[in-house]
Parts: sequence; C-alpha cells; structure tokens
Amino acid sequence: MNDTTDQTSSCCGHTSHSSVESEGRPNLMGAAEDDMATCPVMEGRPVVKSIAEAAGLYRDYEGTRYWLCCAGCGPLFDADPQKYVAA
Ligand SMILES: [Zn+2]
Repeated sequence: MNDTTDQTSSCCGHTSHSSVESEGRPNLMGAAEDDMATCPVMEGRPVVKSIAEAAGLYRDYEGTRYWLCCAGCGPLFDADPQKYVAA
C-alpha cells in the first residue's frame, strides 16, 4: 500500500512518474520506420540505418547494403557474407 498524500494529479493519472515510464523506451523506437533495418548476422535485431552508418556498421555486398546491429557483427559478416545474405 502506498497511501501518500500526494494526490495533486490523481484526476487523470498523469503523474511525472508515469510519463517517464512511457518515454523510457530505447532510442531505436524513436526512429522512422523508413530508417529501420534488421541485422543480417543477428537476425531480427533492429538496426537504425542512420546510426549504423554513422558508426560504420554496414557493408555493401553485391550492390545491396546491409546494416549491422553491433561491432561484433562486422567481422562475422566479412568472414562469410553469403551465409548472411542468402536468407
Ligand atoms: Zn550485432
């Protein structure tokens, strides 16, 4: 039970605390859908293209660009790109 006397904003439940919770998502969710890709190495991992490109986390392979979710995926992709793009 948390029966405090702080009821000033109880009419609509919009306390500052609850708004922090709803905004507390990863930055990934703030990106435009157009800017999203998934990592070919760790399949299903969301990647924000602009962020990945800024960090050098992408590869151009046979005319197609692939975005990587983390630095660890670069060497993996380079080692066997066919394995990852053939999906
Ligand atoms: Zn990764």
